[in-house]
Amino acid sequence: MQKLEQLYEGKAKKVFKTDDPELYIVDYKDDATAFNGQKKGQISGKGVINNRMSNFLMTIMEKAGVPTHFVKELSDRETLVKKVSIVPLEVIVRNVAAGSFSKHYGVEEGTKLLNPTLEFSLKDDALDDPLINEYHITALGVATRQELDRITEMTFKVNEVLKAYFVGVGIELIDFKIEFGKTSDGQIILADEISPDTCRLWDIETRQKLDKDRFRRDMGNVEDAYNEVFARLGLKA
Ligand code: ADP
Ligand code: UDP
Repeated sequence: MQKLEQLYEGKAKKVFKTDDPELYIVDYKDDATAFNGQKKGQISGKGVINNRMSNFLMTIMEKAGVPTHFVKELSDRETLVKKVSIVPLEVIVRNVAAGSFSKHYGVEEGTKLLNPTLEFSLKDDALDDPLINEYHITALGVATRQELDRITEMTFKVNEVLKAYFVGVGIELIDFKIEFGKTSDGQIILADEISPDTCRLWDIETRQKLDKDRFRRDMGNVEDAYNEVFARLGLKA
């Protein structure tokens, strides 16, 4: 598969065209950002880990009946994916209070929620990814009611499958962010990535953080945490 012109360079990945108009190549970087790009750094080896891990987890989602953009891993940092038009929403599920939820609602981090929650943020760096509700989303034409229903159904399925899978390797899925896109034939599929950049993952026993919060909060051992999740999933670089 031929890697053609670069379409986009984001905070964590680059996206390239290919000679197939329906396929893109995603290239994972070691760059890390937080607080909407205000904090910048590098997590050595992160690109390799996130590429492999995301592909592994996307494959699990496919098997569970959630269609994804994953096509084929091309190298340690590059993956062939289905081209989609991204629905500009960050779709966030929370099982346990943490981060912005704890702050907004004054709930101690680590408090188990009585049911998983769902929230949407508008994917717009210039506006600082504001929270947006379902009426706003349909009113602005960001997604239709039908698309939102499909996104919601797929998102809770992702939560159930991902949560159960992580429990099996001694990890608690606290919360995560996913993105969806629309293929040229109008199908909504899971896109972007699932990794310690986009999930909060805590050791079940010690409740030690094994995710990007170690970078956001200058906790140290960032690489070790990413490597630990990678190893627990049985993955090898
Ligand atoms: P950001 O844009 O937030 O800085 P990244 O560095 O991860 O994020 O950049 C990857 C970009 O590619 C994101 O904007 C994401 O929405 C987009 N993307 C992910 N998967 C696909 C896909 N299958 N087709 C088109 N765009 C995608
Ligand atoms: N998240 C993400 N990208 C974002 C914002 C959030 O991947 O731009 C993930 C984050 O890693 C966490 C979840 O979404 O797993 C909820 O994040 P929260 O709203 O608590 O935001 P934060 O505390 O990171 O500001």
